[in-house]
Parts: sequence; structure tokens; C-alpha cells
Amino acid sequence: MAGAPGCGKGTQSKMIVEKYNLKHLSSGELLRKEISDKTELGQYIDKLISNGQLIPDELMIDMLAQQIDLLDKNSIEGIILDGFPRTVTQAQALEEMMDKRGIDVDVLIDVSVDEDELINRLLKRAELLGRSDDNIDTIKQRFDVYHSKTKPVSDFYKNADKYVSIDGMGTVDEIFVRIGKVLDQLQSQKNK
Ligand code: AMP
Repeated sequence: MAGAPGCGKGTQSKMIVEKYNLKHLSSGELLRKEISDKTELGQYIDKLISNGQLIPDELMIDMLAQQIDLLDKNSIEGIILDGFPRTVTQAQALEEMMDKRGIDVDVLIDVSVDEDELINRLLKRAELLGRSDDNIDTIKQRFDVYHSKTKPVSDFYKNADKYVSIDGMGTVDEIFVRIGKVLDQLQSQKNK
């Protein structure tokens, strides 16, 4: 699941895992856990996140691979990756990582939301959660990083014919229905 900061990918991922018996792996949550555990690595990550920068690819890929290896794959129908891959290098590494483990990468669901609405949502979230990166300066930096580094990931999946764009404007439930249709279709194709 991909999209600009504030597109709702975290909220939607959490709703989807319940309905489809998937495991939710959020790269952002993984990183925030490292920060709250107050490890040395966490301090380094904290600085990058607070400045709206991405964590280096190699580190992010290793952290994610470790999490995938911890999963009991027999008890779940699949994995939903939330916020990963965020660079083309990560997308390429993900293909390799999953190939080695005999797992298919089915689709990139790209949740698309107008920039004004994204800013509104992020500033609202700042009041609720107080995330260190939900302030106007960092939000602008995150958008820049999104456009330069993450947007090209869409082309990677378009070229592989594994890309679906979802209209992320509207209520949480409306967006959930749209994503559900994509997943239902995918499931019925797999069961053929
Ligand atoms: P998120 O919770 O997905 O909004 O991510 C919050 C922040 O964590 C991002 O702005 C990045 O600084 C960092 N981050 C999350 N996922 C990744 C990733 N796949 N690669 C690099 N940095 C990431």
C-alpha cells in the first residue's frame, strides 16, 4: 500500500488485515518502535524521521526482511506492506526478497489524495497523535521526498502490470470499499 503522507494507508491497512486475514507490516511503525525502545539505532532514525528524510534503503530493507522471517506464514493469507517500498531500490529489493521466500508481490495499491486535503489530515493527526514529523515544515519536506523518491515506485509497478490507483478522497469507509474491490478481484483471479 502506497501513497503520499496522510493518504490514509495506515488506517486502511489496519481495516484490510482484519477482513482478509493478512499480516500488516508498517515500515513507519517499525521505525517508531525502534525510537520508543530508545535504542542507539532509534536515535539515528528519530533524527531522520523528524527531518522528513527517508531511512537509508539498506537498513530499511534489512529491518523489513527480519520482520517477514518472523511471520508464521501458514496462519495468514498474505502480507500487506504499509509504507514500503518507498524507493525504486526498495521495490527491486522487495522482489528479490520475496522471490527467495517463494512469496508473490501481487499489487501496489496507490492511494491518491489532493495535496490540500493531505495537509489538513496531517495537521489534524498532529493534534491527535503528536507525531514528531506532523508539523508544517516536516510535512513539506516529506512531500518533496515523496515526489522525488517515492513517486517513481509507481512506474516500477506499472511496468510490471501490478499497479492500481485508488481514489483516496472521501470517507474512510468509502475508500475501504474501493480497496476491497481490488482485493476481491485479486483473490478471485488467484482462485481460478
Ligand atoms: P509513515 O508512518 O509511513 O508515514 O512513515 C513515517 C516516516 O518513517 C517517513 O517519513 C520516513 O522518514 C520513515 N519511513 C517509513 N517507511 C520508510 C521506508 N520504506 N523507507 C525509508 N523511510 C521510511
